Amino acid sequence: MNRYVYLLEEAQGLDRDTLGGKGFGLVEMRRAGLPVPPAFVVTTGACRAYLKEGRPPEGLWEEVEAKVRALEGLTGKAFGRGADGAPPLLVSVRSGAPVSMPGMMDTILNLGLTLEGVEALARATQNPRFAWDTFRRLVQMYGEVVLGVEAQAFEEVLEAAKARRGVPDAGLTAEELEEVAFRYLGLLGERGLDFPMDPWAQLRGAVEAVFRSWNNPRARVYRRIYGIPEDLGTAVVVQAMVFGNLGEDSGTGVGFTRNPATGEKGLYGEYLRNAQGEDVVAGVRTPEPLDRLKDFAPGLYRELEATAELLERHFRDMQDFEFTVERGRLYLLQTRSGKRTAQAAVRIAVEMAEEGLITREEAVLRVDPNALPALLKPAVDPASAPLPLLRGLPASPGAAVGRAVFSNEAAERYASEGLPVILVRPETTPEDITGMYLSQGILTARGGLTSHAAVVARGLGVPAVVGAEGLKVEEDRAWVGEKEIREGDLLTLDGSTGAVYLGEVPLLEGRGAELLERLLSWAEPYRTLGVRANADTPEDARRARAFGAEGIGLCRTEHMFFQEERLPWVRKLLFGSPEEEDEALEHLFRYQKEDFKGILRAMDGLPVTVRLLDAPLHEFLPPGSEAEREANPMLGFRGIRFLLLRPKVFQMQLRALLEAAQELKREGLDPRPEVMLPLVSEPKEVERAKDMAQALFAEYFPIPFGTMIETPRAALLAEKIAPLVDFFSFGTNDLTQMTFGVSRDDAGRFLPRYLEERILFADPTETLDLEGVGRLVRLAAEEGRKSRPGLKLGLCGEHGGEAKSVLFAAEFLDYTSASPYRVLTARLAAAQAGL
Ligand code: ADP
Ligand code: MG
Ligand code: MG
Repeated sequence: MNRYVYLLEEAQGLDRDTLGGKGFGLVEMRRAGLPVPPAFVVTTGACRAYLKEGRPPEGLWEEVEAKVRALEGLTGKAFGRGADGAPPLLVSVRSGAPVSMPGMMDTILNLGLTLEGVEALARATQNPRFAWDTFRRLVQMYGEVVLGVEAQAFEEVLEAAKARRGVPDAGLTAEELEEVAFRYLGLLGERGLDFPMDPWAQLRGAVEAVFRSWNNPRARVYRRIYGIPEDLGTAVVVQAMVFGNLGEDSGTGVGFTRNPATGEKGLYGEYLRNAQGEDVVAGVRTPEPLDRLKDFAPGLYRELEATAELLERHFRDMQDFEFTVERGRLYLLQTRSGKRTAQAAVRIAVEMAEEGLITREEAVLRVDPNALPALLKPAVDPASAPLPLLRGLPASPGAAVGRAVFSNEAAERYASEGLPVILVRPETTPEDITGMYLSQGILTARGGLTSHAAVVARGLGVPAVVGAEGLKVEEDRAWVGEKEIREGDLLTLDGSTGAVYLGEVPLLEGRGAELLERLLSWAEPYRTLGVRANADTPEDARRARAFGAEGIGLCRTEHMFFQEERLPWVRKLLFGSPEEEDEALEHLFRYQKEDFKGILRAMDGLPVTVRLLDAPLHEFLPPGSEAEREANPMLGFRGIRFLLLRPKVFQMQLRALLEAAQELKREGLDPRPEVMLPLVSEPKEVERAKDMAQALFAEYFPIPFGTMIETPRAALLAEKIAPLVDFFSFGTNDLTQMTFGVSRDDAGRFLPRYLEERILFADPTETLDLEGVGRLVRLAAEEGRKSRPGLKLGLCGEHGGEAKSVLFAAEFLDYTSASPYRVLTARLAAAQAGL
């Protein structure tokens, strides 16, 4: 009768929760006909019972003993004792939780060996050196893992033995290894610890240690970070040992059924001759590529290839497997779904569907949408990269080569000659926007992943490395230690890794776009959520459309105000005399009309939501002017507040939009502008703005009129605001800042610490906070639709292109709007939501 312990052959039909990932994989491999050393699994239920009672559940050891007897039968060996010239049965004791969970107990190999057993093992293998090495490894692992002695103590003994030998890397002799083993035993004795010379006591000690390791501090932290339930418990696998360290025809290795970096189909991995599994991990010796087996063990190579095929057919995913070869015989020890790069994920999903291994729907669900932007970007070619000059935070993916510039002015000079540039700044501010637009890459000395430079770079799709410690940026040059970087010097940076190189490093073009298109074409039929883009220029609009955007959900007009040649007019408009204001309005009207025409043309036939001016005034202040400075500009005179009190700006912008559309219509195009109010917090604001808008609509033609919901009060008053408008667009950037009371630009001082200390579990500026901010969004959506049936609902902001947030949006909104490079992410995530 099984209650807690199952042989692999008895465990068929039990699930991963009961058997743990490792046990489940072994059961399945055996079922698929692969050579797996005999083993049994102590279930997670036994672990749960142990942790609850503080002792092994009634009858556990009897069950374990019965299964060890079964292993003896299957292997023809006796546990811990050599019998009739056969080597003793030794086992590995391996932990395996239902979900992969580093931080728990390490595996103990060679368990069951005692001083008596060593002699038997030496006789049976005719290899005393191997026998004593096996024993000394067991004492060390048992000492560390079960008895809790620090590894250092054992290392010192081993090092001393090697030093006495005088030849550091030569192997120790059998006698020397025996001496090491006895010193290990002595070392335990000195600490009042006892290495059991009874195989059964060793086994009980090891199994209990695995149970207890579920509550290791490291394991607890890991569970908290990844939201793994506390009450799963771990299973224990006890498996007959096979030996990869019995000579040149033995060895151990790791294989992947496809290349985890590129996704290319075919066996990939590493192999270490004459070694036990732990040697690979310990990095003592360098393994060789599996390919090399073709030459010196072609039969084994073919066997591994057949194994890979079988594993994929059985598990229907790319597998990462561990194996050992004992005297030419292959044994499989572990398998699991392999980790992979974004590029590999797409290629594997598409090709597996085309091979008929999985369905197209499964392929669509297997790719992480958030990984897609990296796929389109060039990367530094790892094969030819030199040592980096310095490293910073990987703030915006992709690699770039260009000439170092330190100002907007220099960026423009180089760009006008068609030369690519890298903008290098201590940190960036809105003043740097021109240079940022023009550069192929951005490098800053200060700032974190949510700094201005990082956020803007991601929005622009420009690769960026920020917070590069060791970089000192002056007005027209920079220093890395003694090394000077002058304007015009060539730099290469990789925003996916954070590395910065001096000179030009060869780049690999972004690959996988074609395969991605195929995947998306399978995904699209399942998508009901609309996907638009955040775009402020015709070029961005075209790019977004090429990525499949179905319109623009957020066109920020303040970006049009920041352009260098317009700034003097903007300043006159904002801070000048009434005459200057009128003159400025006339100029800016012409600029804006042309901007709008360009964008509407690029998005012909698709909706373009234009948000009227929303910029904190200090961003336009001429240098040195103090009088107009606000203490808290983000909460100051901006958005609708400014537009209502400076109605001429409102009218100028809306008129420019309507006139742009009118002119395009005359050309026979189909422009679809929409106008949107920023920073509303009071229904009266919307009413006033609507009166102004309607006067202009009467003069031209009406267009959809909507508001952003980006203050908590607007969300709370949605019911009153909704009847006044045609649509809401949730501006989750500001809504997050105001709901948390956190400014994105200042969050760098504490947010990283908050995440480290697990006070917050995700950066709310990256992933929408569903509990708080999401609750406001849902409330406003529901109440808005109640008072204004047919109200259109969208989401814009950084979250609009983040997979989890898109999933949330797909539940009840009409569309999401993402920065151009995140449109693909939004499309895939929205399709997954529909599956
Ligand atoms: P991890 O979870 O850290 O991968 P494992 O339980 O897979 O730990 O054990 C690590 C390594 O120990 C394996 O890759 C394998 O090389 C070796 N090993 C485990 N069990 C056995 C066994 N029964 N025979 C030979 N080697 C084993
Ligand atoms: Mg393993
Ligand atoms: Mg806003």
